[in-house]
Amino acid sequence: MNNYTIVLLFFSFFLKFLFIFAAHLRKRMEQEKVIFRCFGSGSSGNSYYLGTNREGILIDAGVSARTIHRHLRAIGLDFSRISGVFVTHDHADHIRSVGTLGERAHIPIYTTALIHEGIDRNYGLREKLKTSRKYFEKGVEFEFNDMTVNTFGVSHDSTDCLGYKIRLYGQTFVLITDCGEPNAEIEQAIREANHLVIEANHDEQMLLKGSYPTYLKQRILSPRGHQSNQTCGQLLADNFHEGLRNVFLCHLSQENNDPDLAYHTISEATAQAGWVAGEDYFLKVLDRLVVSPVYVLGDSMIEEQPKHSKKEQEQI
Ligand SMILES: [Zn+2]
Ligand SMILES: [Zn+2]
Repeated sequence: MNNYTIVLLFFSFFLKFLFIFAAHLRKRMEQEKVIFRCFGSGSSGNSYYLGTNREGILIDAGVSARTIHRHLRAIGLDFSRISGVFVTHDHADHIRSVGTLGERAHIPIYTTALIHEGIDRNYGLREKLKTSRKYFEKGVEFEFNDMTVNTFGVSHDSTDCLGYKIRLYGQTFVLITDCGEPNAEIEQAIREANHLVIEANHDEQMLLKGSYPTYLKQRILSPRGHQSNQTCGQLLADNFHEGLRNVFLCHLSQENNDPDLAYHTISEATAQAGWVAGEDYFLKVLDRLVVSPVYVLGDSMIEEQPKHSKKEQEQI
């Protein structure tokens, strides 16, 4: 055996080892359980947990820090396991407790410079962000722990509004809330999503016939307002694909919507396009005020009920 053969042999062993190691790592990464939990959705407050049962992030913090902490503890987590709060926009129902989480619990608060400026101007925020303020640029993908995060523009009457596309452990999670009208980036994100949280704010007829004053109806219906069940259904029907496994409807109006009606409108629309809720994919309506079960995100929809103590159960 000459030197050349030895080097070649060594090299092929090394390559084989690398290949096995990479395959093992990929398998481990993909086996990690991805969990999602909603702590509140709608004008009273929005906040979502996304991660594993070891660590993760929050998207928006529009419910009280105490409530978030209680619901995290029920799944064996606390603030020290939250590596960031990612903010969609600067309306109070999405940022109410960013000050407390950022400055007292020392969790970094991530969003664009423009939205941070909006947060600064928000008088409802008792504690202003100082050391916890962190920036990223809209539309520029970045790595964050085990996640790849990207954002896109959503039309809404806030300083700016972001949709999130997050890849983790081989799965793509997309969140679109407070959305006046669809755009090409939203459609593209839906076409890439395995798990989608999307706004179904109102039923158009209920809103038009309802008791809201005209200016408020116009605000909600405007291209910078909120997304109706009908628009949500059409958007899904137009962009549905086999990889889309779980759809969660969020930000339902108490006055101008009904969970059963939202479910029915959206499932009808996707069925017209050949995708049947409960068979081809899983459809859930997120409750406005009640914390959701823990959803294990994968090909199927698995709900786990966390173990709250009796005292915590009474507070929920
Ligand atoms: Zn909102
Ligand atoms: Zn809003």
